[in-house]
Amino acid sequence: MKIDLHMHSTRSDGRLTPTELVGVLAQRQVSVASLTDHDSTEGLDEAVEAAAAHPGLRIVPGIEISASHPTRSDSDVHLLGYFVDRADAGLQRQLTALREEREERGLRMLERLARLGYSLEWERVRELAAGASIGRPHIARAMVERGYVATYKEAFNGLLNNGGAAFVGRSGVTLEDAAHTIRNAGGAAVLAHPLYVEEYETIVPRLPDMGIVGLEAHYANYDETEQRILFDLAERYGLLPCGGSDYHAMGTENEALPGADGPPREVFEALERLAGVG
Ligand code: AMP
Ligand code: FE
Ligand code: FE
Ligand code: ZN
Repeated sequence: MKIDLHMHSTRSDGRLTPTELVGVLAQRQVSVASLTDHDSTEGLDEAVEAAAAHPGLRIVPGIEISASHPTRSDSDVHLLGYFVDRADAGLQRQLTALREEREERGLRMLERLARLGYSLEWERVRELAAGASIGRPHIARAMVERGYVATYKEAFNGLLNNGGAAFVGRSGVTLEDAAHTIRNAGGAAVLAHPLYVEEYETIVPRLPDMGIVGLEAHYANYDETEQRILFDLAERYGLLPCGGSDYHAMGTENEALPGADGPPREVFEALERLAGVG
């Protein structure tokens, strides 16, 4: 049974619409999938509707909230939320504020890029985002279009990556805030891709006190050794080892496809119980 609890659509920085994504999920025989767009739940209704045509596929409402890093201004932390009530006013208030912050932050990253000799049109970046949550991937695509870099990936090397010359952090929401919002919206909070979080060794032990119930250990981009580190941490701190592909349909080399990794059924069922579902 394939379970994949992390993926993106055109409502944030993925390249497939929710309907197209559901098509790929069905084709790859994924049984349980969560759409976890960055700071937006706007793709969920469409995904659930499209999945109605595929009886073997269940869509879990999800979100990936961008929070500030507890100690580093040149980085951030992503918090996944599952089974959130997307009509929750507190959740939508926070997501709207985060998407507004993304606009400002995008402009500031373009200023930095311009100073480094890479001038881009803000309007073009907005067009590429097409009304969705604007992020670094849209800027990276604009850079490829202008021929500044040969590939999407190259735009991150030393420029858009965390700590890169054009990177701008965020300030709005702390990890505690994000966890609180997810819980208040009836959801279960899970730390996304922990090995991308600077100083994760000091952050993971604090998660249970924040009301965060899991971390991504079955993460398709982590090898066996890396996942082992995360399984051990999960066990040590009583966190559920969740995970998924983090599929964006970027078409990059070696991109993990939907269903490539994810937690076993028992872990998913424990997650449901923690969220008060099932
Ligand atoms: P943002 O939401 O604007 O902070 O951008 C974060 C997104 O950029 C991630 O969800 C990935 O889709 C992408 N990303 C971040 N770092 C990298 C990287 N080093 N290589 C490729 N994509 C990345
Ligand atoms: Fe992304
Ligand atoms: Fe993420
Ligand atoms: Zn993601």
